[in-house]
Amino acid sequence: TRRPLIAGNWKMNGLKADALALASGIADGVRQTGWTDREVLICPPATLVMAVAEAVKGSGVLVGGQNCHAKPSGAHTGDIAAEMLRDCGAACVIVGHSERRTDCGETDADVRAKAEAACRAGLLPIVCIGETLAEQEAGMTFSVLANQLKGSVPAGATAAKLVVAYEPVWAIGTGKTPTIAEVAAAHAHIRKVLDGLMPDAAGVRLLYGGSVKASNAAELLAAGDVDGALVGGASLKVDEFLAIAKAV
Ligand code: 13P
Repeated sequence: TRRPLIAGNWKMNGLKADALALASGIADGVRQTGWTDREVLICPPATLVMAVAEAVKGSGVLVGGQNCHAKPSGAHTGDIAAEMLRDCGAACVIVGHSERRTDCGETDADVRAKAEAACRAGLLPIVCIGETLAEQEAGMTFSVLANQLKGSVPAGATAAKLVVAYEPVWAIGTGKTPTIAEVAAAHAHIRKVLDGLMPDAAGVRLLYGGSVKASNAAELLAAGDVDGALVGGASLKVDEFLAIAKAV
């Protein structure tokens, strides 16, 4: 059984006051529901991981980073190790988000090294994959996803230590989403590819990301092989994000 995971990726948004209000609002909402059948995760900017972890303590809300370095320490000015995120109270880390692949040139091999670092540090890695618009239009979606998985799933991966997020690049921040049938087909394909890469692919949680909001969450979350959502813009409002978590 795959416990649904609703994850908020705040991206580069949030100064202390607003971020703590957002985190506390989400924590209060989750506390009131007493959910044990789903997990709620928020991933603030690295500057706020420690304060947010403190603010949500005891609510059941998990905190994650948005990126990490592959190494545990060393001469890497400005970078943050998975161990440091863990030390600040994080339980998870997003790796290989398309914005980092684009902005920072991260390759599949980089993403795999970061995912392995997350496991080493005791964090759950959320490995992001997804095709660009050009790749989609060229009919390459399935091959792109397969190649990204083969290149970036960590060595020795198991279902308890891996989450995969399918985020079509063209759906991120655009208000566009694939059809429900397309999402289900992509997720089924991802699970099939994972089956060739690890022993217990049936247990891996697969998140959909890209323009998820309260109004479309229920149908996206009900699609086959969708075990949760990775939410960007709509995770920055307490009510909207809680409504998405309720839609499970
Ligand atoms: P939006 O929900 O803003 O489209 O962003 C999706 C995303 O990139 C989450 O990681």
